[in-house]
Order: sequence, then structure tokens, then C-alpha cells
Amino acid sequence: LEVIEAAEPSIDAFLHVSRDEALAQADDVDKKLASGDAESLPELAGVPVAIKDMIVTKGIPTTAASKILEGWIPPYDATVVEKLKAAGMPILGKTNLDEFAQGSSTEHSAFKRTCNPWDTDCVPGGSGGGSAAAVGAFESPLALGTDTGGSIRQPSALTGTVGVKPTYGGVSRYGAIAMASSLDQVGPVARTVLDAALLQEVIGGYDRRDSTSIPKPIPPLAQAAREGARMDLHGMKVGLVKELGGKGYQPDVEARFNEGVQLLQDMGAEVVEVSCPHFSYALAAYYIIMPSEVSSNLARYDGMRYGLRVMPPEGMEQTAANMMAVTREAGFGDEVKRRIILGIYALSAGYYDAWYGSAQKVRTLIIRDLEAAFKQADVLISPASPTTAFKFGERMDDPLAMYLSDVATIPANMAGSPAMSIPAGLSKDGLPVGFQFFAPQMRDDVMYKPAAALE
Ligand code: GLN
Repeated sequence: LEVIEAAEPSIDAFLHVSRDEALAQADDVDKKLASGDAESLPELAGVPVAIKDMIVTKGIPTTAASKILEGWIPPYDATVVEKLKAAGMPILGKTNLDEFAQGSSTEHSAFKRTCNPWDTDCVPGGSGGGSAAAVGAFESPLALGTDTGGSIRQPSALTGTVGVKPTYGGVSRYGAIAMASSLDQVGPVARTVLDAALLQEVIGGYDRRDSTSIPKPIPPLAQAAREGARMDLHGMKVGLVKELGGKGYQPDVEARFNEGVQLLQDMGAEVVEVSCPHFSYALAAYYIIMPSEVSSNLARYDGMRYGLRVMPPEGMEQTAANMMAVTREAGFGDEVKRRIILGIYALSAGYYDAWYGSAQKVRTLIIRDLEAAFKQADVLISPASPTTAFKFGERMDDPLAMYLSDVATIPANMAGSPAMSIPAGLSKDGLPVGFQFFAPQMRDDVMYKPAAALE
């Protein structure tokens, strides 16, 4: 809490610091320790966590960085939050993000801008820039994020932290505010691969309250990370994804990535090139599927059920429909409105097959690409983000440039498979570069081993 107080004026990672709750939770752990009951404490008891404000927390304001949720206090905890509490992990507060997790720089937050701890003139990435910056600036040892197209991994790449998107269905989405339900996944942000593994073990596992939760145990992740730390990768086949590199990738990013590939080889891994030809269409298909789901999920913010309500101005009829219209006009930011409109268009009669139907077919082709690639290699690798952190404002007037930030991370969301970003050194101007690993579905353990070896 002292570090947060000192760092926040220059970083602004938090939307809300839950000081009293965190201290009370820490006290509970202290009491157990004092009573000689240390044995009964879970492994991470007492280790605090920051939570992306896209995840609901009972009694603690949750806004998704949107004015439309301002003032809403959730009456329940997300499953992942319940699990943190059961593990004795104090909750430090809620971190900043792009409104409803839509963006790649955290600049679309309705409330504040978060700075990159490595260079405060630069963005921390997004949408989970707050969680990544909080961990990067040592304000919290651990954080939770949500990743729909890269919102855990890209900010991790830009802040030199470890960020993991688990297998879709491996971590409960109950109480994670929905952006695009078929792509959203909750995951850890940490400073080391082992920390991320330990946190994913706490939050993961089957949850009957999430209909897409997979009723199977998660493979042992911390064990895989500990094996990796021995830095022996003999017998492991690593597939370098041909399509994720070259044009559009910053030379510095490619240089650090290639050094990482060399290190994997030095540790005994066999590196082969693999091709995933349909990855080139992933971004385009994502920007059809994601807005379609966004337009449906955000229909619930109607001025009736949560947070903000704006009454129609004088002269306008005082009807419920008008109240909804003016509430949504005032409560949603420009990027969110852009996506709702895109989604409604893609789903409208006459366009549905051409847009949504085609995008779903591309999704199937991406899944097949990955299935084929995992026949040739145990894990796949690529840069996590095509560039290092960029300056504030640089991509705000150009949505397409902003969207390209996720070109390397989106394929894993489209396929539901796990992927993570780990730090791979710095660019010439001193900014972090992220190295991405992909693993097959429900085999998150497979990427933890080489990631721990390389970090
Ligand atoms: N940056 C991507 C987008 O704007 C991904 C968002 C996310 O993963 N939540 O959609």
C-alpha cells in the first residue's frame, strides 16, 4: 500500500484502492500465523493481488472503466475473486483498462490514463494496462487481467511482465464482465513465470456457474515452471510461426525475439519453422466476431439495471426508450459505440452470412492451422506484440493502427488455446519486448516449461 501511494501519482494504474479490505484480509492471515496455524494456510496466503476492473468484486466499485457503470457496487464476487479470498490473498484494488476492455493502450478508459513504468510518455498497452503497469511498477506482485484478443499479453509485452491467457474454459468467466464471450478469458499477470503458474493454479479449474468451463483438472503448472527453471529443453520441439513476423514488426522486436530463439536452441530445444496460413486473416475475422458479441453483451447497459441513469432533457418525451437512448449516449465512449455499431451491422439480416458466417469459417481454419502445427511441434513461438510501447496519442486517431497491436495475440483467442508473453529484453530505446509461447488446448503446462527456461 505504501508503494502504491508513492507510485500512483506518476503511474495511475488503479481506479480504486481497497485499502481497508486489503488490510483486513492481511490481518486474517496474520492471526492464523500468530496462532501457530501456519500449516493450514494456502501457499500464497498473504500475497496481495490487483484486479482488472473488468472483474466484479463484492462491495468494491466495479466500472469496466465506463461511465455507464459509475457508482455500481457489485452484490457478488466473480469466481476467481472468491478463489483468491479462499486462498488468503488480499485484494489491493481495481486497475484501469480501456472501456469494457476495448483497446490496446488503456487510453479509452473513461476515467484516467495509465503510464508505462518504463517511460511515462508511453502507453502501458491495453486493455489491461492498469494490471500490467501495477505489476511492472512493483505496486503489486500479482494481478488479474482479461484477454479477449491480447489484453493480458500485449500489455505484459509492453511493460516487461509475464502475462498468460489460459485455455478457454480453464478459468471461470463467472463474474468477469462480458466483452466477447466466446473469446474472453481471465488470466494472471506476474513478474516471473513461476508466480504466474502459482496464480493460475489458484484461479483455475471447473466452475458449474460458467457454462463453458471445462470439467477437467488443470495440468500441474508450477511443476512445469520449476522443471523449466533447470534450463534443459532436450527433446522439446519448438515451432516458429512463419506468419507472425516480418513486415509490420519492429526490427528491435525481431532482434530480441531471434536472440530468444537462439537461447531455446542452446538449451537443447529443436526449433522448426511452421506455417499457419490462416493467421493472416485472424485480425479481420476477429473484428467481425468480437463486435458482434460486444453489441449483444452491451445491450444490458440500459439505464435500468446498473449504474448510470440519465433522464431525457426537457422537451423530450419522458419514456423508457428515450431514457435508454440518452443514458447510452452519455455513458458509452466513442470506441465502444463504434464497436456496437459494427457488430449490429455484421449481424443484421442480409449481411449475417457474408460477414459473421465467413468470419466463423475463418475461425475454424485457424483452429485447424494450430492442430496441424501442434503435430509438428510441442509449443509454438512468436513475438507477442509487433512493436514496443508507443507514445500517448500516437494511435488514437487511427483505429486500424491500434487494432494491429494485437495481430500476434488474436489467433490464440480465436482458437481457444493458451498463450503467454514473457519479457525478452529491451529495445535500443530501453523499452521491453515480449516473447510469446502457444500451447495446445488444456495443455497450459506445456508452455510454462520453456517460458521458465527462457525468462
Ligand atoms: N485490443 C483488443 C481489442 O481492442 C483486445 C481486447 C481484449 O483482449 N480485451 O479488442
